[in-house]
Amino acid sequence: MMLGYLLARAGVTLIVLEKHKDFFRDFRGDTLHPSTFQLMDELGLLRSFLKVYHQELQQLKAVYNGKEVTIADFSHLKVAKPILGLMAQWDFLNFLAEKSAPYPGFQLLREAEVTGLIVENERVQGVKAKRPGGEVEIRAGLVVGTDGRSSIVRKLSNLPVINTGAPIDVLWFRLSRKVGDPGQAFGCFDKGRIMILIDRGDYWQCAYIIVKEGFQEIQARGMEGFHRELAEVAPFIQDRVSELAGWGMISLLSVSIDYLEQWYAEGLLCIGDAAHSMSPIGGVGINLAIQDAVATANILYRPLLEKRKITLSMLKKIQDRRAFPARIVQKMQVFIQNGIMQRKTNIRLQKRLPLFLRLLKRFTQDPCAFCRNGYQA
Ligand SMILES: Cc1cc2nc3c(=O)[nH]c(=O)nc-3n(C[C@H](O)[C@H](O)[C@H](O)COP(=O)(O)OP(=O)(O)OC[C@H]3O[C@@H](n4cnc5c(N)ncnc54)[C@H](O)[C@@H]3O)c2cc1C
Repeated sequence: MMLGYLLARAGVTLIVLEKHKDFFRDFRGDTLHPSTFQLMDELGLLRSFLKVYHQELQQLKAVYNGKEVTIADFSHLKVAKPILGLMAQWDFLNFLAEKSAPYPGFQLLREAEVTGLIVENERVQGVKAKRPGGEVEIRAGLVVGTDGRSSIVRKLSNLPVINTGAPIDVLWFRLSRKVGDPGQAFGCFDKGRIMILIDRGDYWQCAYIIVKEGFQEIQARGMEGFHRELAEVAPFIQDRVSELAGWGMISLLSVSIDYLEQWYAEGLLCIGDAAHSMSPIGGVGINLAIQDAVATANILYRPLLEKRKITLSMLKKIQDRRAFPARIVQKMQVFIQNGIMQRKTNIRLQKRLPLFLRLLKRFTQDPCAFCRNGYQA
């Protein structure tokens, strides 16, 4: 959506395909880093963007073994909004859709699921998509795969994927919010267990980190055991864990960290999670995907406008610009995930604030800031 907006604003004609009929899905994460607010400011959208319901955090707090600690403080950053914003991703995407709609070159096709690539003369020339009325073919000078970590575009393109593995999965569920609850999103750390609670007004969106493929074991221990475990990690939710009355109320989100060796082929480019799928650790994947979109728009808007052939060397420039920050952040995520897993079994380690939290405390930065692109078109 961000790439669609940026290109349409520059005058390019494009179609965004979205397989669902709306953006209303929970499983996406909501954290917007200062780099994204800075971009909105540069695009002249910040004032209207800030009217969309969101929370602003200058500091990130966590409860570690019962004690509250500040793990990040953004207030010293010299940017338009030195905050971490929490905005439901459907609101964010609807905002972009609304801002894109007036541009004559922009078209958003919902309920359009890409199922195939049209390859002719050894070049991707477009896609096949499943629509309510049947299959359609859409031809284009360039196909950009922005279809996330299970990207069909990258699968069909046979671009080699390097899997760095992720030892964690996430359980995703809601619990009600009550008067007297803490006022902002935060993390609870207890004996190597981690739960992140996102304030969504009248409920908490909870993300509970578990060992990869450990959900079956949790289920085998029974719902009551799970309730007890949650209440130990975040004692203030003890009075409502029973709202989780069945396993159907809990979604298992599989986490992966991988990347494409090469993000492009003739007529095709992958960006965002399709090029480098991110773990939820650090809540940074959305912001990296947005920066990929900015770099792509900066490098391609002119040749697209002039209807020049998009060459491999143009696409390589995008990967060269973006692969390094994505890999660095992925390496940090792997480091943190391994630290989390070590703590699950090592009681001595559990007593100390983890190294990554100590480092965060000391060097709070927007992880996307060092790789930010100003929008040029
Ligand atoms: C459990 C979990 C929590 C996370 N929490 C956060 C967080 O708090 N903050 C953060 O910054 N990052 C978070 N991340 C990472 C973040 O979700 C991703 O890095 C980010 O969403 C990538 O953006 P994207 O646009 O590349 O892909 P996505 O956001 O996955 O978007 C892909 C889009 O393509 C559509 N699509 C898929 N297949 C097709 C198809 N065949 N045809 C048409 N459309 C298709 C999908 O419906 C979707 O709208 C989290 C990840 C996980 C697994």
